[in-house]
Amino acid sequence: MPGPNAWGGGARQLLRRVRDLMASPAPVEQRLNELVRIIAASFVAEVCSVYVMRAGEVLELFATVGLRPEAIHKTRLRVGEGLVGHIAALASPVALADAQSHPNFAYRPETGEEIFSSLMGVPLLSRGRVVGVLAVQNRIARDYDEEDVESLQTIAMGVAELVSSGDLVGASELEPRDGLPMPMRLIGISLNSGLAMGRAVLHNTNFSLTRLYADDPEAELVKLRAAMSALHASIETMIDRLIADGREDLGGHAEPRDILETYRMFAHDRGWQRRMTEAIRTGLSAEAAVYQVLNDTRARMSTISDAYLRERLIDLEDLNQRLLMHLTGNESSRRDLPIDAVLVARALGPADLLDYDVRRLKAVVLEEGSPTDHVAIVARAFDVPVVGRVPGLLLKVEEGDPIVVDGKIGQIFVRPSDEVRETFAQSIHALAAQKALYLTTYDLPSKTLDDKDIALHLNAGLLLDLEHLKHSGVEGIGLYRTEIPFMIRQGYPDVATQEEIYRRILDEANDKPVTFRTLDVGGDKILPYLAKTEEENPAMGWRAIRIALDRPAMLRQQLRALVRASADRHLRVMFPMVAETAEFITARQLLMRELEHTEHEKQCTPSRIEVGVMLEVPALAFQLDSLLPLTDFVSIGSNDLLQFLFAADRSNPLLAGRYDGLAPASLKFLQHILHQCQAAKRPVAVCGEMAGKPLEAMALIGLGFHILSMAPPALGPVKMMIRSLNLAQFQPFLLDLLTLSNHSLRNRLTAFAQDHGVVLDGNSK
Ligand code: PEP
Ligand code: MG
Repeated sequence: MPGPNAWGGGARQLLRRVRDLMASPAPVEQRLNELVRIIAASFVAEVCSVYVMRAGEVLELFATVGLRPEAIHKTRLRVGEGLVGHIAALASPVALADAQSHPNFAYRPETGEEIFSSLMGVPLLSRGRVVGVLAVQNRIARDYDEEDVESLQTIAMGVAELVSSGDLVGASELEPRDGLPMPMRLIGISLNSGLAMGRAVLHNTNFSLTRLYADDPEAELVKLRAAMSALHASIETMIDRLIADGREDLGGHAEPRDILETYRMFAHDRGWQRRMTEAIRTGLSAEAAVYQVLNDTRARMSTISDAYLRERLIDLEDLNQRLLMHLTGNESSRRDLPIDAVLVARALGPADLLDYDVRRLKAVVLEEGSPTDHVAIVARAFDVPVVGRVPGLLLKVEEGDPIVVDGKIGQIFVRPSDEVRETFAQSIHALAAQKALYLTTYDLPSKTLDDKDIALHLNAGLLLDLEHLKHSGVEGIGLYRTEIPFMIRQGYPDVATQEEIYRRILDEANDKPVTFRTLDVGGDKILPYLAKTEEENPAMGWRAIRIALDRPAMLRQQLRALVRASADRHLRVMFPMVAETAEFITARQLLMRELEHTEHEKQCTPSRIEVGVMLEVPALAFQLDSLLPLTDFVSIGSNDLLQFLFAADRSNPLLAGRYDGLAPASLKFLQHILHQCQAAKRPVAVCGEMAGKPLEAMALIGLGFHILSMAPPALGPVKMMIRSLNLAQFQPFLLDLLTLSNHSLRNRLTAFAQDHGVVLDGNSK
């Protein structure tokens, strides 16, 4: 049978009727029933049904003509179940002449659908989420064509609006019939610890379509073309401006050239423009067409696991937002946050986050994200808990939903039950009390009970982190990760920019020593503007000093900036991922050359220079005799050192907890390094995560380390532990344990702490 396409003469008339129905004051169920009736008639289909997504990812039949009416509110299919569930899972249309032979066909006797051969269904999409399915069926084996599918998709936009209007299935509908709340626990990974409770604010979804359909497609096309031209022009202007002044703000808000080049490429993509033009021709308004194409792309791409492609989606979303802005004249996408906002997004850039009033943010939850994401780094500086990589997040969370965020474990509870809420309220209260307790140590010295001073240092990467230098006992910055300012910018900072960053850090540090670690990029620390190399084992790959020595220009620029920024001041530099003494020698020579260069130019040089090494590759521990005479200090990067010692990827959740830094093997290894450094009279610090966990820090102090560098939130807990520890009592106890062959000494050490009143908090594993 030929496809009696609705977009011939009757198309506009149908859209008008749909639009009238949407605006009608009649009860929403009644409007939905009328909708299915007119859609069935227009498509010459015997069946038209609307399934609505309900709590627990179940699609429920809400309206139908052609199927048995008693199936309404009775037929329910899980996402992925049956053809309707299949369409929802794919978030894409399906058109089948012989539906029953499809492997996903699920027969539901109550519907009486066994007599219908063909089926065409499209997802109802709202804000990139599937909120239901619209399907038509025919008795005969009908070949729906592409135009039929597109037509149904256009109608589906209106239906989706009705469904997500809140009148049909509002927040209360997310509760099942018996009225019990329908909580959902979603598991992700922790990107920043902490607990929070609040209400979901969906990022970048504040755009509301006021005009879905339009009578005059030509007028809409003119509008779209004008908006496209404005978009293209704005991108060109931004590129020109960038080329002209090459400026990048510290806040990272300036648009970088590379990103803009990508925008330019996308903006001129003919496929994109064609799809929007086609959508307008089906009767949508220009903005609805942009929105439909975006929704469709989002939904399709959310099922793609390739990270690179998903990242491109973020670019595409941004581009669409800009285009919508030009279409609607709505200048800003920024919004004010409620006081208890939990920001929910697919992915966020650091500038996106800083666009919000971060201090009002209770937490951030992302469908994507990784611990080294810029957004996680910024959130850490603000102490905002972040949970990332929550699969299907945007399908499961509605604007305004209550959410509990457990950043410690990396889980969230959406619409939590009273019990969950109460439990977390107590934990949040306890955490606040604990923080208050830590604050009481703020002005107290970092000394053990038997008067041994332990020097605390900060691990930092943002200016914001530096305010913790005021904490008593904090002697300086033990690890300034210079890659962080590189990572939060969208373009490579030139020497002058770097110099400015480092100078501000030194100013802020106010004469306390700052240990600058040269760029540690590569592996999972990606700079958006550097070409990415595909590597089998990135952590053991081309990263840090290895890149620096192969491409010395970048390191030399950085060293030049450091030397200049430290004019008349103390400069401490250390090199990451050094695996052999020779690498250190070469890197040090580069520094010396930059120093000579600065002298040669008659510029002021540092008053004092110390050059150190990060010990994070086990092989280096066996070259200390040749290395130490050349270095001024050593800092142990236990995160990398232990991952290489145990051959256990530090970011693989399957291995988390498998090997322990408190194993006799790792403690003996650390002790070996300590003894060598002590013999050579070289100060040695620990700056990996270990140093910031009270139990681990206790073990390190017991071994004889007395310089620990840690993230700001660890200062309170570690200092509290130190102030309650009698080192003379603990040291022999620990040294005796080192001969054991246990998997870990964790239990023994915890027992010691408990028996001797050493205060440990919950931060220890
Ligand atoms: C380490 O490896 O312990 C370290 C401090 O460096 P990063 O965590 O930045 O690799
Ligand atoms: Mg490291």
